[in-house]
Amino acid sequence: MALGTPSTRTDHARTVRDLLASDTTYSFEFWAPKTEKGERNLWNALRRVEAVAPSFVSVTYGAGGSTRAGTVKATEQIAADTTLTPVAHLTAVGHSVAELRNMVGQFADAGIRNILALRGDPPGDPMGEWVRHPEGLDYAADLVRLIKEAGDFCVGVAAFPEMHPRSVDWDSDVRHFVDKCRAGADYAITQMFFDPENYLRLRDRVAAAGCETPIIPEVMPVTAVRQLDRLPQLSNAQFPPAVKERILAVKDDQAAVRSLGIEFATEFCARLLSEGVPGLHFITLNNSTATLEIYENLGLHPQS
Ligand code: FAD
Repeated sequence: MALGTPSTRTDHARTVRDLLASDTTYSFEFWAPKTEKGERNLWNALRRVEAVAPSFVSVTYGAGGSTRAGTVKATEQIAADTTLTPVAHLTAVGHSVAELRNMVGQFADAGIRNILALRGDPPGDPMGEWVRHPEGLDYAADLVRLIKEAGDFCVGVAAFPEMHPRSVDWDSDVRHFVDKCRAGADYAITQMFFDPENYLRLRDRVAAAGCETPIIPEVMPVTAVRQLDRLPQLSNAQFPPAVKERILAVKDDQAAVRSLGIEFATEFCARLLSEGVPGLHFITLNNSTATLEIYENLGLHPQS
């Protein structure tokens, strides 16, 4: 889809698969709010993003399934009340197969055709021991199969440019990623990362394994100095030392940190686009200001 193309009321029924087949996609990620204030923030951010007619927006599924009702509600409202195409994240954490089928049924009833299928992490300590629900699933590949068997859904999965933290080596990591794709995944979105080379190496590894599933890079702009420590803890993603150094050099000037963070994210996106990525997926933290600035810097101007 050309950016800025006005959407129509029925656009939410489009699939990410079809969007990727026709053009580079530009998409935004939100989390399901738990409070009324959170809901107002989400809707302010969604309305601003709607004005630039992105390809799709995704809504996360809280750790341990903690926002299950919120994810259904938010995606349902996006489908009903906006011109946006919603993608619902779904994890297998703490769910039996029957509950997962029920969740997928709720998404179908809400008019959602796009689901991002994730294994999820154990509640509490994300690196704690994974304990499968006694009647549940072990891996995202099983969830992909469950969703595909349940109906005509377009299914995405996660990819990890710096290897999944639980993987023992690259060979098994890539093999299990390819298994998810062969189970029926239509596309993947990566974990956040800050060095484009990591994405390019992953793409080469997956291609060498004979898999052509499109992998959309995720973009996380740094707007505060504390994120230099926080984001690697959350995601395992490492900053290139030169980027970290330049941000630390202005660490007492919040405006300068934000401005550099946006400059780096813009360069990062431009490099990835020049390498022919299938799309860009921006994390918004339910505040679209920084991501929309990057969007504009890339020449993807909001429509008037
Ligand atoms: P899997 O693909 O199942 O992989 C998990 C680990 O198991 C990997 O090390 C893999 O190599 C290994 N593995 C896979 N199959 C096998 C097998 N057959 N035998 C042995 N080992 C195997 N979490 C949330 O809670 N909510 C969200 O909304 C959410 N959204 C996300 C969005 C994106 C774009 C990304 C990248 C992550 C998201 N996550 C979310 C985090 C995700 O749930 C965790 O990173 C989780 O640890 C991995 O999920 P997965 O779907 O990749 O799991």
